[in-house]
Amino acid sequence: MKNPNGHEIIQLFEQFSPKGLAMEGDKIGLQIGRLNKKIERIMIALDVLENVIDEAIEKKVQLIIAHHPIIYRPLKNLLTDTVQGKMIEKLVKHDIAVYAAHTNLDVAKGGVNDLLAAALGLEDAEVLVPTFDTKLKKLVVYVPASHAEEIRQVLGNAGAGFIGNYSHCSFSATGTGRFLPGEETSPFLGQAGRLEEVDEVRIETIVPEPLLKKTITAMIKAHPYEEVAYDVYALENKGEVLGLGRIGKVEEMTLAVFAEKVKTALEVDKVRVVGDLATKVKKVAVLGGDGNKYFMNAKFKGADVYVTGDIYYHTAHDAMMQGLNMIDPGHNVEKVMKKGLTAALEKMCQESGYEVEIFPSEVNTDPFQFL
Ligand SMILES: [Zn+2]
Repeated sequence: MKNPNGHEIIQLFEQFSPKGLAMEGDKIGLQIGRLNKKIERIMIALDVLENVIDEAIEKKVQLIIAHHPIIYRPLKNLLTDTVQGKMIEKLVKHDIAVYAAHTNLDVAKGGVNDLLAAALGLEDAEVLVPTFDTKLKKLVVYVPASHAEEIRQVLGNAGAGFIGNYSHCSFSATGTGRFLPGEETSPFLGQAGRLEEVDEVRIETIVPEPLLKKTITAMIKAHPYEEVAYDVYALENKGEVLGLGRIGKVEEMTLAVFAEKVKTALEVDKVRVVGDLATKVKKVAVLGGDGNKYFMNAKFKGADVYVTGDIYYHTAHDAMMQGLNMIDPGHNVEKVMKKGLTAALEKMCQESGYEVEIFPSEVNTDPFQFL
């Protein structure tokens, strides 16, 4: 076990929530501080408010990973007697880095929307609003037969060869590789200046585009040759669709009963409900945060009820007229990411042999109270 630095933590985290999944213009990534330091304690937060920063200082945290960006609009100045300026000053003074994973964490597998869907017990959950089509590349590499098994493992572990529920898929064929090592080389096989023939294996597999760079790096590292011969082909195949929100099924019940279930599952005292409480619901759409503009996606996909935050008066009217029931448990239910992300990152750190303490922020950042 070793203490990781910030770069190592973020590299790991971005395998879970790649930046490439974020919606255009979103403000994500490292926002404050630095990563070139030892990380012993990480706090996972929904929002970075002053009381959250105080909590991080008290708990001697080096890194906050937050869902909502602390800097959303570009700063024109940094005045330390303003609310935001004071917060940033505190973070910098205490050398606490803030990293934001916003819409990329909404879209990510196991991210905010999957956590919400799981909390609501949705079965056969699918993406509600597709935003990202994982394009596939074909990766072909030539390996001496002695190293073929190892390279296949490395490729699979890096995420290559996922087809449906199968991982580590590849195809191999054997053949003869030829090369003439130049005078300045120190070849793994053969001698400089002599034409060499080797039994090689051609391994081919598919890799989602976002994982391509990482896969090639891992493959080159494990490959015995000085110069690795590999090809990357563009594919026309459709990749896995990722996106915002989820839609799935629950056991049939009335809207009233389901609303009660939402309260329990998402740990809120009250919800706002649009629709006839006696209607039966079975197909449920959920979208973390403000999902106003996607209510027609829920309707088109046949949802009986759409659970999302920040519902506007006029969206509610429109949904009513479309015959779509809605439940608004508040934007703050995204707090589900605090525990979910803690567990996911803990697991990844353990697998990488990183000794680091990860915990969810305990501060309640919901600005609303219901009387
Ligand atoms: Zn949000």
